Amino acid sequence: MMTGITFDPALVALPNAHFVGGKLLKGEGAIPVHAPSNGRLLCHLPEAGADLVDYAVCLARDVQMRSGWATCAPRERGRVLRRWAELVEDNAVELARLETVCSTRPIAETTGWDVPFTAEGIRFFAEYADKLGGEVAATQSDLLGLVLAEPYGVIGAIAPWNFPLVMGSWKVIPALAAGNGVVLKPSEMTPFSIVRLAELAVEAGVPAGLFNVVQGTGRITGDALARHPVCGKLTFTGSTRTGIEIMKAAAESGPKPVTLELGGKSPQIVFDDIRNVDAIADRILRAFTGNAGQVCVSGSRLIVQRAVHDALVEKIVERAQGLVAGALEKAETRYSPIISERQATSIELAVQDSVQAGASALLPLGRLNGSEGAFLSPCILTNVTPQTRAVKDELFGPVLTVQTFDDEAEALSLASHATYGLAAGVHTSDLGRAMRAVRNLKAGTVWVNRYGRSSDFVIPTGGYGGSGIGKDLGRQAVEANLRYKSVLMAFEG
Ligand code: NAD
Repeated sequence: MMTGITFDPALVALPNAHFVGGKLLKGEGAIPVHAPSNGRLLCHLPEAGADLVDYAVCLARDVQMRSGWATCAPRERGRVLRRWAELVEDNAVELARLETVCSTRPIAETTGWDVPFTAEGIRFFAEYADKLGGEVAATQSDLLGLVLAEPYGVIGAIAPWNFPLVMGSWKVIPALAAGNGVVLKPSEMTPFSIVRLAELAVEAGVPAGLFNVVQGTGRITGDALARHPVCGKLTFTGSTRTGIEIMKAAAESGPKPVTLELGGKSPQIVFDDIRNVDAIADRILRAFTGNAGQVCVSGSRLIVQRAVHDALVEKIVERAQGLVAGALEKAETRYSPIISERQATSIELAVQDSVQAGASALLPLGRLNGSEGAFLSPCILTNVTPQTRAVKDELFGPVLTVQTFDDEAEALSLASHATYGLAAGVHTSDLGRAMRAVRNLKAGTVWVNRYGRSSDFVIPTGGYGGSGIGKDLGRQAVEANLRYKSVLMAFEG
């Protein structure tokens, strides 16, 4: 058993504040913040109204224009960002604890993945600071055509509660690398780690006031940020429902462009030529129970060829019964609670509706004992159709639906979803089948014989259809924070 990283949450100093102009701004607490693994109240978070949002955005604009961040030699920006990555690593223990106290991420995960992945993400984007200046256009020889890449000014960023540090940093870092200022609103349920990240940015040399964090609910703070006329662009990660609101706000206060990373209901197709049923069962289990299913790319729809159905499903059911609840601050905990009691109840209701509509629970949804929070045991539903709620809706919980197919065309037809197109998995040892699926699946990401991202930041992520617009990660994420000015010059005056 690992013991070295267990900690006492009561001893963690929470940065329960906004971070504006390089300083913590403590306000009167308005929003209760709870620890999901035991439901305990941690504090009341202050809420930024329209005035504070206005101050934070205008300050970011002034600093972006006057500090030299956008106009310095771009390698200098890269150097500051690399220093920031070092500071994240130097402060990894504190960041991991701040992430674990209020999110669904066990300390073993935040220490082993979330924090180091954030630091490496900063390094990845730092490398782009001096590499995307624009291009020279092909013109007639007595003209010079230039396409200049320029920052927008201030990016308004809004982040979700699942993976708060990683999701928040995917918004902020490419925006800064491209020369912008940023105002970020984290989720009101997971507000702390990003404040510490912003403090470290200033320590690394990011000008104070360029990257500000405003706390509050979506209805008040998020809406004020999305509608602020000085934000040149919005970048959002969250549900499809809220994404539509963000798009409306961008239209009404601009128009201005949006990057939207939204929900998913991702399929995993398993063909009967797979060689190692045990390995695929492990992979499928991880894909729908990781973070208790609270992952945008959760592989929540299994679509399996009839001949391999019984053997595979039996192994998944067997493995799904081995997950145990535990306090997130304990080194040995691996399985996550649901973020709130309200969210757990909504997952339970959706499963009940599905069963009432004819689905059979091969593994019924239940509560796991052993900790006080809302820990749900994995659930596996069969006899479902595309109309079953658990197939149609993103439940954001540990629920797997199982559908069976006879041929490739049926598999692809079942995989296609009326709303979402975030990710898809294909498991087969036939290269032709894999490639036909890759070509035909309507999804922003397709994984073949694996499920989940690698540590290659260069591969962008983003959805098709109701799963979003634009990309996080990759060169595309930096380009999304740049706008292009066309210049045409004649040689004679
Ligand atoms: P959510 O849409 O409820 O909230 C996301 C953020 O938007 C929060 O900060 C919230 O306060 C804010 N918000 C809510 N209403 C707002 C409004 N009217 N105006 C402005 N801001 C508003 O989502 P959530 O429950 O925090 O996160 C889970 C969702 O995020 C899931 O649907 C998941 O699939 C999605 N997600 C997508 C990706 C991706 O890369 N595609 C990654 C992570 C999460």
